[in-house]
Amino acid sequence: MKTINIFGVTGSIGLSTVKVLKQHSDKFTVNAVTGGNNVKLLAQLAIELNAECAVIANISKLDELKSLLNGHNIEADCGEDGLIRAAEREVDICMAAIVGYAGLKPTITSLKYAKRVALANKECLVTAGELFLAEAQKHGCVVTPVDSEHSAMFQCLQGSQTSEMEKILLTASGGPFRTHTLAQMQDITLAQALNHPNWDMGAKITIDSATLMNKGNELIEAYHLFPIELEQIEVVVHKQSIIHSLIQYHDGSVIAQLGTPEMGTAISYALGWPERLKLDFKRLDLFKIAQLDFEPADEQRFKCLYLAKQSVIMGGTCGAVLNAANEVAVAAFLREEIAFLAIADICEQTINLAQSRDIIINADNINDVCEVDQQARIIAKSLL
Ligand code: NDP
Ligand code: MG
Repeated sequence: MKTINIFGVTGSIGLSTVKVLKQHSDKFTVNAVTGGNNVKLLAQLAIELNAECAVIANISKLDELKSLLNGHNIEADCGEDGLIRAAEREVDICMAAIVGYAGLKPTITSLKYAKRVALANKECLVTAGELFLAEAQKHGCVVTPVDSEHSAMFQCLQGSQTSEMEKILLTASGGPFRTHTLAQMQDITLAQALNHPNWDMGAKITIDSATLMNKGNELIEAYHLFPIELEQIEVVVHKQSIIHSLIQYHDGSVIAQLGTPEMGTAISYALGWPERLKLDFKRLDLFKIAQLDFEPADEQRFKCLYLAKQSVIMGGTCGAVLNAANEVAVAAFLREEIAFLAIADICEQTINLAQSRDIIINADNINDVCEVDQQARIIAKSLL
């Protein structure tokens, strides 16, 4: 039996993880589960999974959590400190599936106490990639990618040397506005942006997929996870989302990983690696798909992708600035306070202002990154 903590169990990745675990209840035993606001679902899952502890990030919901768990032998905890306490539980695997910057501290803490971190929270690598991976190495924690593209790269690399890699081909669905002109993007509504053509995901990453900031984040993620230069990562728009990414080797061979657009396989691979867990999910039907299309990504229409590349070139805490600005802007778009195209503008202006105010620095530790995050948020909010 492997012990597992599930951070963000009430979210899209969290619930898909639960589905995978239910098919392998003889292999995993759940220790801590955490949620943000959805206290009823958190309590229900904690009971169903027979967890030892449930943590709700919103401290005002602790009493409700306690009463929902009444009669069950499950510890209730809350707040950011409660998330850190949960991360300090020694387990075999931590599923890191909190969304956004809120996941950074609990996930970094988990690197010390878990043998493996299955990493869904890509914002950890966007904001603090080098520090995060140095911390994992220091504690001998294995980081397995959950993001489908990076899981694909990881799978394509099995049995090969990373030194033999020539190129990473990072696939992108292109999102719901793949064929829109900039003029057509002026009037995009929230409902349109939330309507992803292929993937069913949480709200924040769905908007990131529409702006292509998600692909930018994934580019940064790949840059940190694999020993490769930025110029060796190419984004390939592939509207069917069947090929999850490819590795081109120095003998010209290109290896791809394919699957249906759902997260079960990537999650189970991150949990089971090097083993493949048997999964009872939908299988790929190539005859039904019949055709696979590829086109280059347009960084002029999708400025967020360009900004993500720039943030790697600028280095230091630029990723943290970009992430903070994007989180502020996406939250405002979700509240219908700003237009779709304003998301990229706010990100760009925040980076420019952060640069002129010397906020983009070489961070020595996570506290520096957190400080930069706070300052970038203040700038981004002033631009809303
Ligand atoms: P969701 O919005 O569906 O879920 C997010 C989870 O984080 C929920 O459990 C939520 O709790 C919790 N949460 C939100 N805010 C806080 C907070 N301040 N403190 C603690 N917990 C919080 O997101 P997804 O599952 O879609 O995404 C999770 C992560 O995985 C993201 O980083 C995303 O980029 C990444 N990812 C997701 C994919 C997907 O298919 N969904 C694919 C690849 C990567 P509650 O709901 O109770 O408020
Ligand atoms: Mg992805």
